[in-house]
Amino acid sequence: MTFCLQGICAAKGIAIGRLYVFDRGQVEVSEYTLDFPEVDREVERLRFAVESARAELAEVRRQIPIGTPSEIAGFLDAHLLMLEDTALTRAPEELIRERRWNAEWALKVQRDALVSVFEEMDDAYLRTRKDDVDHVVARIQRILLRQTRPHHDVGDSGLAGTIVFAHDLTPADTVLLRQQGISGFITEMGGPTSHTAILARSLRIPSLVGVHQARLYLRDDDLVVVDARAGVVLVDPDEPLVRYYQRRRREIERHRAARRKLAGMPARTSDGVDIVLQANIELPGDVQAARRVNAAGVGLYRTEYLFMNRESLPDEEEQYEAYAAVVRAMRGAPVTIRTLDLGVDKDVAGARRASPGPNPALGLRAIRLCLREPALFRPQLRAILRASALGPVRLLVPMLSSLSEMHQVLQLVAECRRNLEHDGLAFDPQIPVGAMIEVPAAAVCADLFARRLAFLSIGTNDLIQYTLAIDRIDDEVNYLYDPLHPAVLRLIHGTLEVGARMGVPVAMCGEMAANPRYTRLLLGLGLREFSVPPNALLEVKQIITTSDAGALHPLVHRLLRSADPNMRAALFEEIHGAAAPHPG
Ligand code: PEP
Ligand code: MG
Repeated sequence: MTFCLQGICAAKGIAIGRLYVFDRGQVEVSEYTLDFPEVDREVERLRFAVESARAELAEVRRQIPIGTPSEIAGFLDAHLLMLEDTALTRAPEELIRERRWNAEWALKVQRDALVSVFEEMDDAYLRTRKDDVDHVVARIQRILLRQTRPHHDVGDSGLAGTIVFAHDLTPADTVLLRQQGISGFITEMGGPTSHTAILARSLRIPSLVGVHQARLYLRDDDLVVVDARAGVVLVDPDEPLVRYYQRRRREIERHRAARRKLAGMPARTSDGVDIVLQANIELPGDVQAARRVNAAGVGLYRTEYLFMNRESLPDEEEQYEAYAAVVRAMRGAPVTIRTLDLGVDKDVAGARRASPGPNPALGLRAIRLCLREPALFRPQLRAILRASALGPVRLLVPMLSSLSEMHQVLQLVAECRRNLEHDGLAFDPQIPVGAMIEVPAAAVCADLFARRLAFLSIGTNDLIQYTLAIDRIDDEVNYLYDPLHPAVLRLIHGTLEVGARMGVPVAMCGEMAANPRYTRLLLGLGLREFSVPPNALLEVKQIITTSDAGALHPLVHRLLRSADPNMRAALFEEIHGAAAPHPG
């Protein structure tokens, strides 16, 4: 029987396929005490399960398709090594003998002991090793519990075409799963501006987040349809429903193809205002997508993705090659390279001191971490500066909140320039250095930042999170995440006014810029530079070309002054619906 679950759209689109339950969590196990004669048999049962887990993993390792990133083999090797470790083999055996516990329980107790040791470690890298313990233990537990469905790993080509269901996915998982050809995903956790959701949009993976309690209803191999725009998962759809969605999927593809014609047209409003429409990218390979839609440049290159899914940090040379590839591929169009924004959900194995702290979003994140770790930051600054010798590059700093941070960054940039000169390496001496405006303090003091910086870029994902005190990855409070909140609009408006007054360009690269529902509002607020994921660019352009910027201005100002929620809602709809009349 068909039934339906609701969630929040992460990336639009329709996916139809079999479900794959990607379980990173612990397996539920119960405790019981054995009679003495059963103890030896139980130890044997555990040994058999460990051996089978090893054989399974070795087989997965053997089947890794050519061309799969080498780090996937690295993950599997690490897990194979753990299966050799006495902490996971001998120690539970001893618990079975001493306490007469069943194997599942002995393994769980040993897992808890190991995890608590990892959790107390100061070293963030070692702390993340706890996930590996969980994966390996879960694999043995499933064998003990005879949960025999073929278990896929992220590196497994058997995932092609499936719709992945997980409690939560990290951005790193998402990249790997896409490489394996999944056609969609569903998670119980997460909100629309979590990094995983942003990535899903840029990778074009139809997906839903915040599908609460879905694990109670979804099973491996269920046939499901993800209708992401409508925010629903249809489980066990009948044939007419599947045919209906297949038709819808073809229609969406046709509309997309029709929009492609816009790529060659200028991003100009109907009253002749030219808009700079740039692309956000995560990996050098995304440049092709940016070029296909004729982006005027890269407005945000999130470099942290270069640091993910690997055991060690990329050195200056590797970073230089990556940045240089983007600059060359953009053929003279500007490339805005953002320095590392690690922390919160974007942690990487090699950044050992990226401590999550009690509240990661308010902790040692982004520029704070880079200033604390010059050894991490300097090679990146040097690599970005060197890439600037190849074409127009702008250097963008995330999460600045204090002027002293800005001064420290400028000093470090100056120092790197001197060192490059000394080393005889070329760079652009005029390279513009700018700041993300994504902390309310920076928005309020935008004029102070604008005195020393060449440009600003509003990061609404974080600006909204910090202004409204809502964790953007916490689905419990996601309903409060409101880009139209008067406080958010005032901060955006204030920053744009500062830019206009001081002659400092202000762009917007947060997801608000990519949502066509907000395009006219932003034009009316005075935004003239948008940076959006490539797959959102043409939709935003379509709205721009059918908008009258001059006519929007007074409407938006009425919205800014209005205190009545109903009036505000009506004004917003009027602004969004205010398409310019067709010429002639
Ligand atoms: C933002 O905060 O709006 C932004 C663009 O940065 P990120 O989403 O990478 O935090
Ligand atoms: Mg941000």
